[in-house]
Amino acid sequence: MKLFAAVAAVLCAGAAAFAADNPDVKKFTFSNDVEVYAIRDKDTTMKSSLFTDYTKASSLKKEDLKKEYPASVNCFVLRAKLKTFLIDAGNYDPKGSLVTKLASVNIRPKAIDYILITHLHPDHVGGLIDKDGGAVFPNAKVYVSYDEWKHWSPIIEKQKPTEILRQFSDAYKGRIQTMNTGEPVVYAMKAPGHTPGHSFFRQGRLRFVGDIVHAVDLQIGHPEYCASFDMNQKQAYQTRLSFLENMSKEGNIVFGAHIPFPGVGYIIKTETGYRFEPYK
Ligand SMILES: [Zn+2]
Repeated sequence: MKLFAAVAAVLCAGAAAFAADNPDVKKFTFSNDVEVYAIRDKDTTMKSSLFTDYTKASSLKKEDLKKEYPASVNCFVLRAKLKTFLIDAGNYDPKGSLVTKLASVNIRPKAIDYILITHLHPDHVGGLIDKDGGAVFPNAKVYVSYDEWKHWSPIIEKQKPTEILRQFSDAYKGRIQTMNTGEPVVYAMKAPGHTPGHSFFRQGRLRFVGDIVHAVDLQIGHPEYCASFDMNQKQAYQTRLSFLENMSKEGNIVFGAHIPFPGVGYIIKTETGYRFEPYK
């Protein structure tokens, strides 16, 4: 046991050094057996025009309509209780940049035990597919919510073999499980609205929240503004509102798929609403 601890300590020290060299990977250590790597797929922006109710607000000035809010596409590796989880996977990239970024912190694809998917949009599952349409992660079981799988399955069946979701479904056939059979280390929680079965994941104080928020600078203060790609906007608003209330009350650490990299922070309640505070 002692030997194992010593080896683990050496590996951890090495991983931290590598992470410092790679601007797209940032490591967070929360305890001896819980750490997270935030991985940047790419930086991006969310245009004001995506938020249709916002663009209709009477108090807006012309320049507000031209605003672009900083955002990112992130995914996360969680190591907890000797298991390794990949939470979302970013966009498809024929060059396999996710594998390269993981390699920079000594994480090999075969080391991923579980893949947890917040929802089945291409910017969350594309990174699971290699350039030949095969599975990047040879050993991982994939978890997605029952509601999400039920919604997308008939759509996937009609897709061409080259489309992302179809490739994902084919490449991981027999390994995709709906989360009603969830693993005990990480709990899935329902957070519908963006998609019918959108979920977020809970490990201790950590919350991996997917697409509950797209433009953090706009929507934390104004949860009522939905992005046009929230499929059920009323539900997405309710989900966002209860998420903000619960996260601020419980003091959880939030990991967002589209919060500017590394996408990690707290939700703080203010006199007028909420604000996001990056984790330091
Ligand atoms: Zn997304």
